Amino acid sequence: MVREFSTNTNLLAFNAEHIDRDMDELIAVYAAHGIRYLDLNFCEMMRPVSRLNDERAPSYIKRLKELKAEHGLSYIQAHAPYPVKNTPLSSWDEKIIKAMNWAYELGCPHIVVHPHGCDIEENIRRYERLLRETDITIAIENMESWNEISRSDEINEIIKSNPKRLKALFDTGHANIMGLDPDAEIKAYGSNLVGLHIHDNNGREDQHLFPFMGNIKWKNVIAALEAIGYDGYLTYEAMYFSRKFSIKREEFVIAEALNSFRRLF
Ligand SMILES: [Zn+2]
Repeated sequence: MVREFSTNTNLLAFNAEHIDRDMDELIAVYAAHGIRYLDLNFCEMMRPVSRLNDERAPSYIKRLKELKAEHGLSYIQAHAPYPVKNTPLSSWDEKIIKAMNWAYELGCPHIVVHPHGCDIEENIRRYERLLRETDITIAIENMESWNEISRSDEINEIIKSNPKRLKALFDTGHANIMGLDPDAEIKAYGSNLVGLHIHDNNGREDQHLFPFMGNIKWKNVIAALEAIGYDGYLTYEAMYFSRKFSIKREEFVIAEALNSFRRLF
């Protein structure tokens, strides 16, 4: 595994002032703190006012390209938007396809696209449709509720339909909520595993906190990753820690994230 800190661009997206901070602003902050491996958060498209949803999108994508070159960054993953609750899935596919193509253009090796509901056959058909619209690999994430796809056997089954283009992303916090053993899950994914969402919780709520702030047994997680020869990044998706702090404390939030990352090894 890569022992360099990596995070979704949402690490500092929330703050006590409730000020929205977009990727292009945050990437410059991360770069200034020496963080070079980033997961692009196209979930920004879930906000109707996002620049990615209107004619400003091309210049936003261009800016992301420039930031990458300016700071020598690697965009190691991306996250596609997903349907807001109680809205039809079909209305989101257009946004998801846009995100997939932008992620590909920006050099991301894969993009996380959430499964929908719990029907495996339906998901296979949907991923097939999405893959036709893009050249990027899709990483399927384990979800956190009983009416969603959450286990490795389900995700591995979907991957079998197109093992070249479909891979797995293991979300540590979601598995913890579902009471799954991370050791068994990681080993079941094996070589299908291309990415991680690293975050911690109390086993009941999807708190998205830093490792060691909840009850995940991180030693087991790291040992299992080592056992399967995982060669990807340990990408933080821990955006709620910053929520109670002022924007002015961003340096502290980053320091806490980095401290928790060092403790993993
Ligand atoms: Zn996740």
